Amino acid sequence: MGRTRIVNARVVTPKGVCYGGVVFDEQGIIAVEDAATECCTTGLDDSVETIDAGGAWLVPGGIDPHVHFGGFGDIPIADDFWTGSLGALAGGTTTVMDFCEPSVEEDARAVIARRMADASRSAVDYAFHFVLSEQYRDLLRDLAYIEDECGIRDYKLFTVYGNTTLTLSDVREIFERLSDDGRRTFLIHAEDADLVACLEEELGDSADMQYLARTRPDAVEFRECEALHELAGETGARVCIAHSTCAETVALLDEPLARGQFELETCPHYLAFTEEKLAGEQGARYTMVPPLRSEADQAALWDAILAGKLRILSTDHCPYSARYKDGKTYQAIPNGVDGVQWRMIYAFSEGVAKRGLTMPRFVDLTSANAARFYGMWPRKGCIAAGSDADLVLIDPAGTTTLGIDASASAIDYSIYEGMELSGRIVRVFKGGREVYDGERVSAEPGSGRFLARS
Ligand SMILES: [Zn+2]
Repeated sequence: MGRTRIVNARVVTPKGVCYGGVVFDEQGIIAVEDAATECCTTGLDDSVETIDAGGAWLVPGGIDPHVHFGGFGDIPIADDFWTGSLGALAGGTTTVMDFCEPSVEEDARAVIARRMADASRSAVDYAFHFVLSEQYRDLLRDLAYIEDECGIRDYKLFTVYGNTTLTLSDVREIFERLSDDGRRTFLIHAEDADLVACLEEELGDSADMQYLARTRPDAVEFRECEALHELAGETGARVCIAHSTCAETVALLDEPLARGQFELETCPHYLAFTEEKLAGEQGARYTMVPPLRSEADQAALWDAILAGKLRILSTDHCPYSARYKDGKTYQAIPNGVDGVQWRMIYAFSEGVAKRGLTMPRFVDLTSANAARFYGMWPRKGCIAAGSDADLVLIDPAGTTTLGIDASASAIDYSIYEGMELSGRIVRVFKGGREVYDGERVSAEPGSGRFLARS
């Protein structure tokens, strides 16, 4: 395959926005061409395919650093790596990060082998967060294998949930053992497990999904985040709080920890919906943990995004078929919703078009900052010579209607059903090949590559 040249685009590069285009092949981006200065590309001939972007935005392929494509629990997640890839690519996401979450019987080698096999049909590039569960001392015996042989350099910790629950003193021990290196990072599901247990005991089980919000109020998240923020400060650990939701957590970004050492991730569903969705018959469709919050919390999340302080948008894509959701109690329901296909266009429409988020911040939020935090930059999340040719064209004049009719993955309902957004993803390239033409995904199972990080 030869070279491709995109012209007449508004290109978002690490240096800012330029008008022009890029030249690339399957090896990567060869040149960024600024139409205002002289084009300096060499070696172009008639074999170069030229695409006129018609003034559309050209941004790096999205990185969704928190998805679940199959992998855990007794109830199957609607998307596996293949069907999840189709949704991701149609939504402009070309790289995902999923998890190696060991069961009680598994050691590091077993869980990595299992998840590598699961991902063998992926059509997006992928990396893994390694979950340090209650058996973390045993798992860490294989540290050299995890990091040096497999290229996995970051860890997911849970402070709540069955056999994965760690206490704060466990977390401190892990931070102290692993934080000297400076390159490792920790993604943390932060909720106060004791407080949740206490509230669940007090309120009992119910088919009313508003109990999910009552047993997991803001304080459940914030108390844990505050403690983790302090631990990160003491130990030097680099921490990202997974799916953060509330104003008090956001306020931690104003504390004087070094930029890049304490990050928050949030998800489109916390920006799009409030806890009122949990009331009524459809409530079960909207359950995830932490639960949906108030309008004031939403406003705080948006303010932090617009200010460039909250810099990672993931989806925690974990959809279940409606038949596993409906008719359950809040303690028995599988928690999780869809999102991987909608994240980029949602951020464009509601961030850029509606709230004036700048395009460089849009790129930070949807790819660049995750790439930096997780050691993939500038290969990913960056339009520059030498970076992977993962590229997305967004037509700001187009519109997108979300929902099952538009879905490319295997979900059977979407919490975003019928939502109308500004902007449209018109073309997506991954590894220099077109994988989405605005209508159809054309990718092969197994075309995604595992991203080892050194
Ligand atoms: Zn998750």
